[in-house]
Amino acid sequence: MALTGIVVSPGIAFGQAVHINLHHQHVDYRLLPVASIKSECDKAIKAIDFLAKHLKHCQVNLDTESDHFHLIDADIMLLEDEDLADELTQYITRFRFSAVVSIERIFAQHAEELAKLDDPYLANRSNDVICLGKRLMSAVNGTLQWDVSKLTDNSILLAEDITPAEFATIPLNKIKGIVLKTGGLTSHTAILAKAAGIPALLSCQFDDYDIQDGAPLILDAFSGELHVNPVAETQLQLEQKATAEKERREALLHYVDKPSVTRDGHPVCLLANVSSMSDFTQIERSGAAGVGLFRTEFLLMQVDSVPDEKQQFKQYCDALHSLNGKVLTIRTFDIGADKEIPCLTQQYEDNPALGVRGIRYSLQHQHLFTTQIKAVLRAANHGRIRLLFPMVNQIEELEFALELIDWCKQQLIEEEKGFGDLNIGIMVETPAAVLNLPHLLPRLDFVSIGSNDLTQYTLAADRGNPVLVNDYPPVSPAMIKFIKMAVDTCKIHQTKVCLCGELASDTKLISLLVGLGIDELSVNTASLLDVKATICNGQYQQFYQQAQQALGFSHIEQLNQLFS
Ligand code: PEP
Ligand code: MG
Repeated sequence: MALTGIVVSPGIAFGQAVHINLHHQHVDYRLLPVASIKSECDKAIKAIDFLAKHLKHCQVNLDTESDHFHLIDADIMLLEDEDLADELTQYITRFRFSAVVSIERIFAQHAEELAKLDDPYLANRSNDVICLGKRLMSAVNGTLQWDVSKLTDNSILLAEDITPAEFATIPLNKIKGIVLKTGGLTSHTAILAKAAGIPALLSCQFDDYDIQDGAPLILDAFSGELHVNPVAETQLQLEQKATAEKERREALLHYVDKPSVTRDGHPVCLLANVSSMSDFTQIERSGAAGVGLFRTEFLLMQVDSVPDEKQQFKQYCDALHSLNGKVLTIRTFDIGADKEIPCLTQQYEDNPALGVRGIRYSLQHQHLFTTQIKAVLRAANHGRIRLLFPMVNQIEELEFALELIDWCKQQLIEEEKGFGDLNIGIMVETPAAVLNLPHLLPRLDFVSIGSNDLTQYTLAADRGNPVLVNDYPPVSPAMIKFIKMAVDTCKIHQTKVCLCGELASDTKLISLLVGLGIDELSVNTASLLDVKATICNGQYQQFYQQAQQALGFSHIEQLNQLFS
């Protein structure tokens, strides 16, 4: 039996099914019918009771003097406080929200109150409160457990969804493949799976079938099929396909040290996207000329507190060291939207993708921002660094960020710490950024088009929503026009333009991007040699003509045919 889904990270995986239910909840914001209020209140009370018992069970093997034990105790006390049950039932009754929504709101309020307190211990508890709220929501939905012990060495994960923060907690060495029910082509989970070289399929409705934990699976993340209990013939065919792919990849190694230039001599600088310190170990073999996008916010996902200036300085120096003189493009923390950072306080937002994210978050949390900038400035004394600001829309944001860089330099002078020069760039990720480029460019050394978000904000289509994948693809007439507009404006100002979204790793679209005039492409290391081979085997003149033809198209289907 084979199920289908959307391929986001190619490859073939052989393994066993492991269902995981992370704390992802189904949150239904519709008002309750009056008749359901009582049962919803009961659900909330039962979940509180269940979670308190579960936490007590987790304490059994812990040293009663340990911090871990005390932290769990604090959670249990909160749950067993009678006021919580009263508050929840009153909220459900008064506002007619479900138990899950009421928990989300009430815990967010409590966390916000704590975060405002002067006492640093209580302020830190604010995040714990949010986490506890999420676990309580899971308890209502019956999805509390994330049991790592279930993993075997050949696990193929089956889950509703995995957030980037959750992804960071998964022992990737045990994971052969990932199959999710939700997610979009440019969702961050997809990007992380690709970067880790783990075959992944999204939007696969595996719940319709009764796949038991431990069932043999083959994930063919080329054809987009998940084979459950495969017969010997399928097994053999897919083993042959996997061997052929391995041989193809070995042949691609021929391009590692080749310059990235078309057959008619047009150079396209090829850089790598990285999201973790361990990704830097792949750069040498990937054939990249440097790093075009270091998503630094991912460094914050697995830590209990934000690294200080010294620790960040060391990380950036380590990164430079492994690059051996190649350029390093550091994007400042792009926090918000789907990137939750467990160690930071983030306010609840109804529309986080349209909320305090990217540069907005940084400008509102200046200590976090300037600590990072100071570390980057100091590292720039030791190698070539470009600094990239995410989600800049308008000149005021850029001016403010540049003022803060000047302030950081002044601080470093006073602290007698050396620092180097930075090239400054912004991500172009919204229509406003494209339209404002003529005002922004005089202050910039380079720009990088973030096509994942540019698509999302141009087409008003959530990048993580699988339902929209086919009708709102990254290549559409509007997107091509925006890319062209951005490139042309950059050319007028003689500013280099890079594209670092997932579009750049699709070999079918390289002719379009290069033909439109993009100077640099930054792609995940797993796809880099494929992209380089496409460039080296292509003719710029043909790329240019294809791009011109594409600019005249009105329908997505015409584009799909041209770039199939
Ligand atoms: C983008 O939006 O295209 C991008 C590269 O940034 P991220 O995927 O991290 O949002
Ligand atoms: Mg982005």
